[in-house]
Amino acid sequence: PVVTRFAPSPTGFLHIGGARTALFNWLFARHHGGKFRLRIEDTDRKRSTQEAIDAILEGMQWLGLDWDDEVVFQFSRAAHHAALARQLLADGKAYHCYASPEELEEMRAAARAEGRPMRYDGRWRDRDPAEAPEGVKPVVRLKMPQSGETEIGDLVQGPVTVGNEQLDDMILLRADGTPTYMLSVVVDDHDMGVTHIIRGDDHLTNAFRQTQLYTALGWHAPLFAHIPLIHGPDGAKLSKRHGALGVEAYRDMGYLPAALRNYLLRLGWGHGDDEIISGEQAVAWFDLDGVGKSPARFDFVKLDNLNGVYMRDSEPAALLTAALPLIEAASGGPLSEVAMERLRRGMDGLRSRAKNLVELAENAMFYITDRPLALNAKAEKILNDDARSRLARLQAVLSKVDEWNESAIETAVRDFVDAEGCKLGEVAQPLRAALSGSNSSPGIFEVMDILGRGECLARVADQAS
Ligand code: GLU
Repeated sequence: PVVTRFAPSPTGFLHIGGARTALFNWLFARHHGGKFRLRIEDTDRKRSTQEAIDAILEGMQWLGLDWDDEVVFQFSRAAHHAALARQLLADGKAYHCYASPEELEEMRAAARAEGRPMRYDGRWRDRDPAEAPEGVKPVVRLKMPQSGETEIGDLVQGPVTVGNEQLDDMILLRADGTPTYMLSVVVDDHDMGVTHIIRGDDHLTNAFRQTQLYTALGWHAPLFAHIPLIHGPDGAKLSKRHGALGVEAYRDMGYLPAALRNYLLRLGWGHGDDEIISGEQAVAWFDLDGVGKSPARFDFVKLDNLNGVYMRDSEPAALLTAALPLIEAASGGPLSEVAMERLRRGMDGLRSRAKNLVELAENAMFYITDRPLALNAKAEKILNDDARSRLARLQAVLSKVDEWNESAIETAVRDFVDAEGCKLGEVAQPLRAALSGSNSSPGIFEVMDILGRGECLARVADQAS
């Protein structure tokens, strides 16, 4: 059975690239009826924070990426990781290295001079430990093969190989006895039963070393799938300005989790020409063949469009639930039953006009704000003297409508337009300005119906003269 995992380091928020990695792992597991597991890689004690852990868990919950089994905290397993390194020592597959900081610096300088990455030269690999210098705490290094090649059959990149002379004897335990990232990752993935490692291709070079470590430990390596990183619209590395933000920033900008998920899915994965892909379709269709080999470009315009589609397709009740915290924050507290009822009825007309929940909440406010309404500049302009005196005449007509429903209101307004000998817009726009405080709103008769007779007449009276 398939087991995938998401293994974030809790040193910051769940950023958009991490969220996509989590989504791909989640979808792959769900598609194959397997497990999706979560591991918090909190071994960097200085940089790991509880705040970041919370943000990651909340971000995943918000996106609907539920994980199986307990969350694994990597740091809590350090003793076990170290024990395996000592096992490798005992088996002669690892060794103590006493190279001094000066010696290592020489190797680093040589590498710099030749313009290649630092490579430890293996000077303690075969040396008699009796020669160990007094009082120096050694690191533990893995005996890597010194010739031949390491190959990964990457499920996205295809077969990739590296000459083993490129891979030096990596450190498993630091001088203070703490395990390195490379050791911890391998042991945890093995112990968690991970079958597929899907992650950003910035980890591809690690995969070669990890493969050798699996072999040394006598384990089968999982399958790897390294996905190209997300780039900005200009093709450069994703910057903050171009969307490299935490998931909660997208929530705060008013995106729907389902829309963001759909967008992230399409960032680097495709299924023919399909753009709008439901949660169920994503699970049914997702596989690694659909992952592209070149970096996807983040595009806010596409995300906005997609979000608009999801807004229009949402159930009004669900949209209200999603937007309510924003509306309450703007109105300064919990809403009355009258206000809630107006919003419930108004959602249907509001949802097609907003790109995101923030806009939706802004557009909804006029339904629930207290009189007299503040007018925006355009409403102010619409409500000139002529318009205001027309509203006074309309007020008299509307107050005679006894059955307050959309069609009765419409009939009354249209009759009034005929009597005035003007265009519908010359009545509807001042009316809209008076009722909503702005120049745009859902259909005016719908708005009047929802606001109710008393509130409508009062708002019109507020602006009539
Ligand atoms: N903790 C690593 C990171 O956040 C991921 C390690 C992995 O996926 O193997 O980049």
